[in-house]
Amino acid sequence: MIKRTHYTNELKKAIGKDIKIVGWVHDSRVLGGINFLLLRDNKGIVQITAPKAKVSSDVLKICQKLHQEDVIAVKGKVVKSKIAKTGIEIIPSKIEVISQAHVPLPLDPRGVTKANLDTRLEWRVLDLRVPENLAIFKIQAKIAEWFEEYLRKEGYLQVFTPCLIGGISEGGADVFPVVYFEKQAFLRQDPQLHRELLILAGFDKIFDLGPSWRAELSHTPRHLCEHRGCAVELAFIKDETDTMRVEEELIIYALKKVKKECEEELKLLGKEIKIPRTPFPELRFPKIYEVLEKEFDKKIPYGEDYDRESEKLLGEYVKRKYKSDFFFVNRFPFKAKPFYVMRVDEDPRWARSVDLIFKGVEQSSGGQREHRYEKIIQQLKEKQMNVESMRWFTEHFKYGTISMGGFNLGIERFTMQLLDVSNIREAVLFPRTPERMLP
Ligand code: ATP
Ligand code: MG
Repeated sequence: MIKRTHYTNELKKAIGKDIKIVGWVHDSRVLGGINFLLLRDNKGIVQITAPKAKVSSDVLKICQKLHQEDVIAVKGKVVKSKIAKTGIEIIPSKIEVISQAHVPLPLDPRGVTKANLDTRLEWRVLDLRVPENLAIFKIQAKIAEWFEEYLRKEGYLQVFTPCLIGGISEGGADVFPVVYFEKQAFLRQDPQLHRELLILAGFDKIFDLGPSWRAELSHTPRHLCEHRGCAVELAFIKDETDTMRVEEELIIYALKKVKKECEEELKLLGKEIKIPRTPFPELRFPKIYEVLEKEFDKKIPYGEDYDRESEKLLGEYVKRKYKSDFFFVNRFPFKAKPFYVMRVDEDPRWARSVDLIFKGVEQSSGGQREHRYEKIIQQLKEKQMNVESMRWFTEHFKYGTISMGGFNLGIERFTMQLLDVSNIREAVLFPRTPERMLP
């Protein structure tokens, strides 16, 4: 291992000391006969200044040959600087070239020459060297960490449910088939059904952080073919509002932590986190039809699902009326939701089905699940699904069933909305989309 003494963000505490740092040449230039380098590592950027009078001829020779993205190790002294952005610079005593980058670069990690998104994704490794882009993923990792931390603290057990399934779980055609020896299997669209089975198994409170796949030929800024979710399920709920309270707390916990512990990254991205008030506002069907018509003159036929535009409009409405970026939508029409949701017994047109919306974009779906065996079978029939092929799931509801509910919160969607990233492809390291499977 090449031993460094410091990362770039630790150098302010090392003024006057001899140090060794390792990283990429972010930029190199000569001004007024002085060689300036910017060295970038995982933590930031530091200026290296090599005036003729203060450095050896070896160092000067190397400086003159360096290109952008060469990898170097630099030994030198940390001194205060009036010109450098960080207030310090390094006077190098030795520069070792670890590797040389080919020229020209297909993408400029300084971001001086702007590239379109497709080029950026093609050259994602260089693209992720842009400090702002790295910051997105440092924050995303923290979001996942703090979701987990919250759930563990609250007594949820982490579970790993299968990604390969022998049958279609949600109904619909948006599944990827895979060859499974002589048979066909599918990539899961959601860890939903196995979460329910674990609740029946007595697991009480669980979460599954993992991938799901959607074979949707959609080219929207919100959809990926592979995405990850924080999927939570809990037993013995009174109704769907119990799941809403858990989700709120989970989000507030993570937001507070991001605000406190990702200060540097947020600053780099020019973002500020506001902690929302709880409970989040809740809008319900069928009242939603009225709101849309009254506020926006938008007519959705009674009993039908709303569309993407409505989601956005309701976001504007809630922001105006309740000053909140978050809100829940509850009691979706049953016809818009999968067979396993619980309906309102008194009016079965509506389901105890909840979406969370953040800045006008869906973040999660969930709510209360139907746990009564006869009702599940009836709902399968109503959805015109093959009852026999779902026995692997439904049979377990015969032997001691309990109320349950949960939600699946999209990690990339949440990152995207939190940081106002305009396309979800930028909130996932290596996006899988209809047109892209590599790198
Ligand atoms: P949408 O209506 O926005 O397409 P959905 O209702 O099909 O989403 P769900 O099945 O409810 O999605 O999945 C739960 C959550 O997983 C969503 O709320 C979202 O955060 C995330 N998610 C679902 N599909 C995708 C996708 N194709 N790309 C990225 N995230 C997704
Ligand atoms: Mg949904």
